[in-house]
Amino acid sequence: MRLEGEVVGSEIPRFKNRWFGILEVRTGDLFLSLYMSGTVAQWFRTGERVIVETRKPLFGGEGEITLSFGEYRLWRVLDDGPLLIWPVFSKEEESRRLSPLTGEPVYSYKIRAREATYERDFEAIAELEQYHYASQKELVALWWCETCGEIMEANTRPACPNCGTDDKVHILEIKGSTPASRFLVLELVDREEYEPQYVAYVRIDPPVPKMHRRLPDGEIVRDIREKVFPADWFHPVYNPEELLKKRLAELRERYGREVGLRRLWEEVKWEALKQTDTAAARVARVVVHPDYRSDGLGQLSVKMALKWIEERRIPEMRRKKHIVETIAQMARYNPFFEKVGFKYVWDTASGRPVLYYPLTDEGRERLQRFLEEDPVARQHGGRLCVPTYGRVEPLSGPVRFRDVSMVFENELDVDGLPERLRQLLEAFGVRSRVIQRQVLRDVDLEIRPGEVVAVVGASGAGKTTFLRLIWGACEGLKGPKFEPTAGRVEAPPNAKAGVLIPGESELEFGDESILENVYRKLGDERPAVEILNRCGLSDAVLYRARYKELSTGQRERARLASLLAERPNLLLLDEFAAHLDALTAMRIARGLGKLVREAGITAVVVTHRREVLKALDPDRILFVGYGTVAEARGWT
Ligand SMILES: [Zn+2]
Repeated sequence: MRLEGEVVGSEIPRFKNRWFGILEVRTGDLFLSLYMSGTVAQWFRTGERVIVETRKPLFGGEGEITLSFGEYRLWRVLDDGPLLIWPVFSKEEESRRLSPLTGEPVYSYKIRAREATYERDFEAIAELEQYHYASQKELVALWWCETCGEIMEANTRPACPNCGTDDKVHILEIKGSTPASRFLVLELVDREEYEPQYVAYVRIDPPVPKMHRRLPDGEIVRDIREKVFPADWFHPVYNPEELLKKRLAELRERYGREVGLRRLWEEVKWEALKQTDTAAARVARVVVHPDYRSDGLGQLSVKMALKWIEERRIPEMRRKKHIVETIAQMARYNPFFEKVGFKYVWDTASGRPVLYYPLTDEGRERLQRFLEEDPVARQHGGRLCVPTYGRVEPLSGPVRFRDVSMVFENELDVDGLPERLRQLLEAFGVRSRVIQRQVLRDVDLEIRPGEVVAVVGASGAGKTTFLRLIWGACEGLKGPKFEPTAGRVEAPPNAKAGVLIPGESELEFGDESILENVYRKLGDERPAVEILNRCGLSDAVLYRARYKELSTGQRERARLASLLAERPNLLLLDEFAAHLDALTAMRIARGLGKLVREAGITAVVVTHRREVLKALDPDRILFVGYGTVAEARGWT
């Protein structure tokens, strides 16, 4: 059944929370109470035309008919046609991670992006939000006790100090958001038990009320957006502060200063929601779970949010959207907005970069024209984040194994054993006191500059020995561990090895933060942040964390970052992802493979894990065992 009707009742929809509200609609002589999230309900005004579709039989007469969350569809009737409002936006996407070498898929996520609707969605947002703040002391959400009215600050649901329980405690607000904010959450579909449900969220707000531009010479150009785009794209905007000022002045004149500011705030908040009607949207926040960074999820989140804005005209759900803006200092260091297609345009008066994404041809043309005609924009060409790690000086020649043999000797001491065991061993013919084990025999091979080589084989087969020999050749290390028993290993004279062998070559992390550690080695903050981002540590909390405060998985990444900060041209890694679950190991391996190829680093990576091998996608696989080193391309 499909009915056209009108929003009725008070100017202010009955609305309790972001996660629950009621919209009252009259259609003929029927009164419908539509249950929905408060975030959606609050955007309706009395007198608006809507279309309701339901399969539930509707009986007229006394009282209201209630339709709950899953029982109806709702359109808002606009000048240019009906706009679907309910159910809220929800889209699934398979995000396939491809090998940088072959383009073959190596693993994939199934992600569902949908507007935050339920209370647990907003609790999850508060939990993710913690990762956004630089200080662990910052509390990110306000909570409210339904029993006694107490309001508390916390990052996860707190117990009420008066009632002693969290039974009736509900999330009230995410700090920093405005009543006009809309939230998109990204969930993993078909996740493993050890994986989180929520991996990211995006917050969309109306555009900021005013924007001025600071030119490189310090000059301020006021209301810059209105010089490039039609003014009505950004106005009227959500601006309760402006209304508050006006209204306060009026009330002060009439009633003096005895006016409850809180009441006043409620009034202007609704007024502002009623007025705002822009053709633009602003990405105010993108937060990705720390374990899922640097894997394209930030980009995917923004892409889904752009679809949401375009299809549903978020946040106001009124006019068609031409353009999406974002103002983000981090865009200087992390290019994911640009990778999605945002163009850098200018800095705000306070020096923060502004980027735009056009949703229509008109938006695209106006943006393009500005980038072509503005003298400053012509210089940067719409680009903000320029990679600074760049490429290393490549190896000047191959690493060569020439007729290399390596024998390990163990002394077997039967003397210390009890008599019966000694007799037993002798019965098996174990008498000789020196056991010689041939690890490598007559090995000839080359590792060419820029190659990514994986080394596989059973444990104890000589994989680590293989790495040590290369390390020894690069640094001229002496001793039976580093020099072959026969033959020789040659490294090019410009080889600068970065070595990670657990228990043998470890990095020093004192009390300095991860960011300081990487910055100290590079001497420049931009490549420092770039390296951390690319190793999956793109997070202010993680930047500031000390090594010992990190989880095992984060430590693996911090070690890689610290090693890469030394700008090696030859990377020798032994089981760098040994303690990680399969998916995390794959994410790091894929990121590593991509990074070393782009930087021109030659890498020799020992692993016993097939999933690591698959995600790393090496140029060659060497199989080490029983004295031989063989090409094993078909091993996976
Ligand atoms: Zn209480």
